[in-house]
Amino acid sequence: MSSMPPQRKAALRHELETIVGGGGVLSDPEELLVYESDGLTLFRALADFVVFPRSAEDVAAVVKLANREQLPFVARGAGTGLSGGCLPAEGGLVLSLMRMNRVLEVDYDNQVAVVEPGLVNLHLSWAVGPRGYYYAPDPSSQQACTIGGNIANNSGGPHTLKYGVTVNHVLGLEVVMPDGEIVWLGGRTRDALGYDLTGIFVGSEGTFGIATKIVVRIMKKPQAVTTVLAVFDQVDHASAAVSSIVGAFVLWHAGRGDLGMQIALVVFAASLIALYSVSSLYHSFPWEPEWKRRMQRIDHSMIYLVVAGTYTPIAMAVSKSTSNCS
Ligand SMILES: Cc1cc2nc3c(=O)[nH]c(=O)nc-3n(C[C@H](O)[C@H](O)[C@H](O)COP(=O)(O)OP(=O)(O)OC[C@H]3O[C@@H](n4cnc5c(N)ncnc54)[C@H](O)[C@@H]3O)c2cc1C
Repeated sequence: MSSMPPQRKAALRHELETIVGGGGVLSDPEELLVYESDGLTLFRALADFVVFPRSAEDVAAVVKLANREQLPFVARGAGTGLSGGCLPAEGGLVLSLMRMNRVLEVDYDNQVAVVEPGLVNLHLSWAVGPRGYYYAPDPSSQQACTIGGNIANNSGGPHTLKYGVTVNHVLGLEVVMPDGEIVWLGGRTRDALGYDLTGIFVGSEGTFGIATKIVVRIMKKPQAVTTVLAVFDQVDHASAAVSSIVGAFVLWHAGRGDLGMQIALVVFAASLIALYSVSSLYHSFPWEPEWKRRMQRIDHSMIYLVVAGTYTPIAMAVSKSTSNCS
């Protein structure tokens, strides 16, 4: 618990309210309790203040005040982190970015959006969805976590396998440095000149500064989505199938959504179902243990055969016929 004298606390609260406006500062112990931990509830600490800035200038002014008063400060998004990253030091300031949650600009021609850090991850996909776009990094917490928190933790999700993690989707950042200076890192294109400071910032867990604007890539939604369910009786076989799919460059060709790809997916699904049926049939015979082992090896080889032998030529043909997709 902080030991800040009440008089100093009242004066600082007043000063913080002058920066962020009335209603933008919490300092009562009951209110502060909500911010005493993130998803890692094992560790808890109470700040002196939780502050809700609305702009980069607000953030810079609060950071300068914290420096002047020698108060520790930490940025906070939605608090879904699982590593205690937004935990306050005992006392000091938490800067909650939740009021900075706007999509500032969308440039559909260049597939770029400029957003504020408190924007909930999924809300960006909702915003650009009606025009056929989405934001690819999809942590499982995407209904709650913020793009600012995603940047600090370089978050990823199921789309990561094909599209990469957050760092692969951030082009530029406006950042408030630890001394309160506001700077821009990167730009609006993939190959900004100079050192890759955006790449250094993303994944730095909030230790390099506070992101106040973020330029992200948005992607075109695939024209069709097909779900394939394959059932395996051994984990090794399932793992081998995944490796084969990656090895056959299927991920690079998926998402094209044309007729060729749909045919390829149907053939792929049908092959797996056939393989599973045949495999179930001969596994039901009372084979000797040695023969059973041999049968399992045949299973394994057949999975490779189906994926690499059947699917790759189709995927390659599709690839040749559609070379204009990312
Ligand atoms: C149910 C559940 C599922 C999850 N699934 C995934 C998953 O699939 N993949 C994954 O990667 N993670 C996952 N996480 C972890 C967490 O959701 C992510 O790390 C997420 O990116 C945190 O975002 P947040 O807005 O909650 O950030 P917070 O928890 O508030 O903060 C996280 C870090 O970011 C810093 N920070 C916040 N905003 C800024 C800013 N504007 N500038 C600089 N630093 C900032 C904080 O100081 C802190 O260090 C999951 C968590 C839960 C609870």
